[in-house]
Amino acid sequence: MAETHRTKMLILGSGPAGLSAAIYGARAGMEPIVVQGLQPGGQLTITTDVENYPGFRDVIQGPWLMEEMQLQAEKVGTRFIFDTIVDVDFSKRPFRMTGDGGDIYEGDTLVIATGAQAKWLGLPGEEELSGKGVSACATCDGFFYRGKKVAVIGGGNTAVEEALYMTNHSDDVTLIHRRDSLRAEKILQDRLFANPKISVLWNTNVERFVGGGDPVGLVGLDLVDTQTGEKSHMSVDGAFVAIGHAPATEIFKGHLDLIDGGYIEVEPGTPKTKIPGLFACGDVMDHVYRQAVTAAGTGCMAALDAERFLAEQEFELMAAE
Ligand code: FAD
Ligand code: NAP
Repeated sequence: MAETHRTKMLILGSGPAGLSAAIYGARAGMEPIVVQGLQPGGQLTITTDVENYPGFRDVIQGPWLMEEMQLQAEKVGTRFIFDTIVDVDFSKRPFRMTGDGGDIYEGDTLVIATGAQAKWLGLPGEEELSGKGVSACATCDGFFYRGKKVAVIGGGNTAVEEALYMTNHSDDVTLIHRRDSLRAEKILQDRLFANPKISVLWNTNVERFVGGGDPVGLVGLDLVDTQTGEKSHMSVDGAFVAIGHAPATEIFKGHLDLIDGGYIEVEPGTPKTKIPGLFACGDVMDHVYRQAVTAAGTGCMAALDAERFLAEQEFELMAAE
């Protein structure tokens, strides 16, 4: 039977932003509820090495870091619910949300930390061959391409990390990028260019994911040179699409102001939306930095602002009595 869950501080999302908000909110006595969504722990659960999250001298593992954050949030009094929000009503307080099983969530304040989802190219063959050679997560699926020829598409940090990761499984990795320079950090580029198992195909777009064999799987990529228009074909067993992420804001359309391709608009330098008591933090409001540490930082800010908001409300109520 559907239940109603009520809290002073409702948090949507369990990545670094949501979990940091939960730690601060719980310690401020707001008894937060975190609705975890389909990816408990968020994006870092699909990566391996993390070496830029402060506090750890040695490389740590993304899934481990997120597990520790959740345990810390639980220890200080956060309640976690495995559900996904499918509908929202921000017209009055408490803010009201519906989970996909019909449960109702009510929050005196709301922190949205729904992050971002992997983008796909939307090309012929991509969807049909997804899971049959086409993937958006080398860490998750790379093992299946042991000793095989693979391609990674994209030119950012994710693409370079995926290409480097794939060299654990394959000696023949091609990074395909549409321009003649990468946007990945220099340290990652240096590692990429120094790795003899990786070659880079510059100024190249994929036009089609080609299937074949029985059972059907990816056998190659139809390519086009972005400078000359020349077409070519490349045989590969696996292709990893690593072209970035889109903010998870579909359910907020018409309820919140969205900018820059779907990011939640906030007052600059703060996690405040135009709706008093409603905050957004992490990748869902940050199209520039999108790092675990910045997500955690804005999660902290959202919790502090939520606490101040509630204190002001209580003060106004007392003054009116
Ligand atoms: P996310 O981590 O995206 O979490 C979003 C959360 O929202 C998830 O728990 C999801 O289940 C939930 N959610 C979504 N929709 C709903 C809904 N409708 N209802 C309820 N819950 C919902 N950053 C670094 O600093 N260092 C790195 O080494 C690094 N490596 C990375 C490697 C990869 C492969 C990727 C993809 C990213 C990497 N990043 C790295 C970036 C980092 O992971 C993100 O910046 C960070 O996870 C963003 O945190 P977040 O909490 O804003 O959102
Ligand atoms: P990103 O930085 O947005 O890079 C996306 C890449 O895909 C770009 O090179 C882009 O090309 C290319 N691309 C986009 N659309 C394309 C299309 N339709 N066809 C072909 N190529 C396309 O995304 P990201 O690499 O996923 O990184 C996202 C954020 O997470 C960044 O802030 C990043 O720093 C962070 N992150 C950090 C780490 C780390 O710190 N170790 C690891 C992973 C991610 P153009 O360059 O031509 O635009």
